[in-house]
Amino acid sequence: MLPYGISNVGSNLVIKSEGRTIALDPVTPVSADLIFISHAHFDHLMKKITSPVIASKETVELAIARGVKISEFTQGLDGIKLVDSGHILGSMALITGKNETMYTGDFAGRPRGFMGRLEPKHVKNLIIESTYGKKEYVFPSIASVLKMAMNAVSKAYDAGLGVSLHGYTLGKAQLISYFFKAWKPLIFDRKVENINKIYRAHGIALPEPDYVVDQLTELHNGPYLYVAPMYRGVNVCPVNISFTGWAIKGKNSSLPISDHADHDELISFVKAINPENVVTIHGFDKELARELRGEGFKAQAFGDQQVKISDFI
Ligand SMILES: [Zn+2]
Repeated sequence: MLPYGISNVGSNLVIKSEGRTIALDPVTPVSADLIFISHAHFDHLMKKITSPVIASKETVELAIARGVKISEFTQGLDGIKLVDSGHILGSMALITGKNETMYTGDFAGRPRGFMGRLEPKHVKNLIIESTYGKKEYVFPSIASVLKMAMNAVSKAYDAGLGVSLHGYTLGKAQLISYFFKAWKPLIFDRKVENINKIYRAHGIALPEPDYVVDQLTELHNGPYLYVAPMYRGVNVCPVNISFTGWAIKGKNSSLPISDHADHDELISFVKAINPENVVTIHGFDKELARELRGEGFKAQAFGDQQVKISDFI
């Protein structure tokens, strides 16, 4: 059983607060008074949202730019507070009542360049993402990863080679644009630059590119630094580096910089909050809930609540 006031409606998570129902990052149509969108990544969005939305203005702008239809939105209401979760531009965690329930959405456990992190604050019920909720996912410091990456870029430039740096188009690619702004020529993929423009409009000091490419054939001989979406052009550029937390699993030519909290940051976040109830969601939710129970917390995985089709067969 989920804690009082938290329920699953189909595959969606819905909470009750002061007589209102709030669907948290629903991905299928759901009937609720409000729909909370924590951030504008596609795995947290529906294509068309007809209920009133609560989200940051940055999230709404990014979601609309990505083709989502939102008819009505607010950034805050009595009894509902949004706080920066540090994941991407505009990402928010939601807190209801007087420290009643916190839903983290995706959140960062450490600052990265212009991005911050979600600060722990005591609540009774904590609904926490668990993307990297397994012990092996502990990330090295940002400084040590950047040192390795800068070294690889320097060597490529010495050899006259072009470098492509890859990350998710929204969030990671902007951090890459920021961290590697000193290299020239600085080339942005069109998809990345379209998001970079929105970040700049919200005051983030992202560099202007020397040029923007739509097609990989527009890339000239090296050296150059090309900031690209995750898998684009990996077979075209002589040197490729991808930035993702999954790099911990030893994927070749990828380095671990993540916009999520790592395993140790998830555990220390829960300890700092010290909630009465924990619900884990996404990724390794069962593993994290099990470990938290071992630490003495009342914890359960949202995934354990969902009825599987196999239950009917
Ligand atoms: Zn996300």
